[in-house]
Amino acid sequence: ALARKSHTTVLEVDLDAMIHNLNYFRSKLDFRTRLVAMVKAGSYGAGDFEVAQMLQHQGVDYLAVAFADEGVLLRERGITMPVVVLNADADSFDQMIANRLEPEIYSFRSLADFADAVSHAGETRYPVHIKLDTGMHRLGFMEGEIGRLCEVLPTLPAVKVASVFSHLNCADMPEEDAYTREQIARYDRMSAAVAASLPYSVIRHTANSAAIERFPEARFDMCRLGLGLYGFGWEHNAGLRPVSALKTRIVQIKRLEAGDAVGYGRAGKLLRPTVTATVPIGYADGLDRHLGCGRWSMRVAGRPAPIVGRVCMDSCMIDITDIPGVGEGDEVTVFSAEPGNDLETMARVLDTIPYEIMTSVSSRVKRIYL
Ligand code: PLP
Repeated sequence: ALARKSHTTVLEVDLDAMIHNLNYFRSKLDFRTRLVAMVKAGSYGAGDFEVAQMLQHQGVDYLAVAFADEGVLLRERGITMPVVVLNADADSFDQMIANRLEPEIYSFRSLADFADAVSHAGETRYPVHIKLDTGMHRLGFMEGEIGRLCEVLPTLPAVKVASVFSHLNCADMPEEDAYTREQIARYDRMSAAVAASLPYSVIRHTANSAAIERFPEARFDMCRLGLGLYGFGWEHNAGLRPVSALKTRIVQIKRLEAGDAVGYGRAGKLLRPTVTATVPIGYADGLDRHLGCGRWSMRVAGRPAPIVGRVCMDSCMIDITDIPGVGEGDEVTVFSAEPGNDLETMARVLDTIPYEIMTSVSSRVKRIYL
């Protein structure tokens, strides 16, 4: 039961399912292989602190966030384990050092600026993570820069390279497997050179969720687990448990006539007498406007209830004509693990990926942990 009326719309997050998924991936790895859990963007929408706390309990080696603010939030809530900041920008270096957050260093400029910030803070050998560009061309040192990087790194007492890593941008695309194999070989070469330039051992990592499953040779010393933790994997998510479901409740039911029209622009024209239910979830909650006018069906009592007319900012209307015995206050499932009502299906309708939908469920939707 939902505790408070102000939280009629909730994202249910099953932390036990997440632990199951974590262990599924761990079972694929050598016991020495470390794990980074991706908790950026509010743990892919599943909630920042609760997920991070669970992962800390589970003995994951690192957490990774995108921006310094996300890491600071975790520190303020008592997360003490190592946290990597992937998009670390110079403006946040002092704040990062004060909060013991470890930056991704992706250019000579970011290296010099961070070394300065560390010296200024009176520290030495501050852990950093060197990012290599092995083909994605987002952030990272290019292969032609590795010689100079190997010369510069040992001269900087301010930093200690905790890890050297890269990102595979097609590990989930079988048609690009030849490219991915080349990318892994390039990563092996580039990271080995960086590691050899340093007088201490350095963790090497490049595998995301898909690579853990599909490219055992990409596992190196550590893997970075994102989407898999949240229940999406290879072979129709085999072995994984679904983590989240978005739920709301009916606030009003209306009996309308053929010829009536529902919602903004009268876009929901009714061809038959129709029973509609209004639900308090709209595009400001992360329900994409492109799902309106029948392009998505919620579930009421396990039966499909298509969205009628356009999605409003804070609500939308669904067609419950063919579902008997429905009353105001009844539960409505926006998405869940059920085939046809799941995030992969929604992603196909929206021509996007589950990652985008998961991270779009807005902060005003209360996360409830099962
Ligand atoms: N590593 C980096 C640098 C990433 O940006 C991401 C996700 O965007 C991941 C790992 C995790 O990828 P996945 O969620 O596909 O496991």
